[in-house]
Amino acid sequence: MAVVVVTDLLRTLHRMHRQLADLRDRLTGGPRQVAAFKARLAASEAAFTAANDAVKKGKVTADQKQLQLRTSESKQRDLEAKLNACKTNREYQTLKEQIAADSMAMKVLEDEILEALERIDALRKDVPPAEQQVAQIKKLVAEKEDEVRREKAQLEAEVARIEGELAAGERELPADIVEAYRRAVKTKGADGMAPIEGESCGGCFQRITDMMMSEVLLGRMVICRGCGRVLFPAAPA
Ligand SMILES: [Zn+2]
Repeated sequence: MAVVVVTDLLRTLHRMHRQLADLRDRLTGGPRQVAAFKARLAASEAAFTAANDAVKKGKVTADQKQLQLRTSESKQRDLEAKLNACKTNREYQTLKEQIAADSMAMKVLEDEILEALERIDALRKDVPPAEQQVAQIKKLVAEKEDEVRREKAQLEAEVARIEGELAAGERELPADIVEAYRRAVKTKGADGMAPIEGESCGGCFQRITDMMMSEVLLGRMVICRGCGRVLFPAAPA
């Protein structure tokens, strides 16, 4: 095989490895994006639940106070009935004082109930926006899932196409190069190869000896001593 063809081929194979790496990144990136959207959805659902719970809790508090007030009112009625049955002035005075004290406590309770009801009204206002946000993010999740699903098919087709081209290209490699090439790209893919930039390895920037340079230009397989990458001449400007 002519020298120029081998160096061109190594460069082409490197490009294909990079394309494959990029496509595979995008294939894993899609589901990651979907997962991030789902996390946002879970957070918005939790906020919605919390908003509802706050209203419920507020209602329980208001109900308890209202029950307490009704009990006090009923007790108050009993005391008032007893007033008429009082036999002594002292007894009458004591009852009167108790009724006055209870009335004061009930007034405080009434204020608290009013406050609790106002608080519920305020808390209720948080519920619809929280619910809206859940619906909005749910829609975004569905759209993202759809987009990722569609993109996945395209990306997989592209991966299959480039893998085919890569395999065809690799079959063109001279026998004395193939094994070292396979070793270099087996685990690292595109990063198992590097263009020569100036007089250095484009992967680790270690200087390349004149001897190595001439080997490369003769189309021989040269491995960087610094990082072990398969070297090939950079594309002609
Ligand atoms: Zn290197």
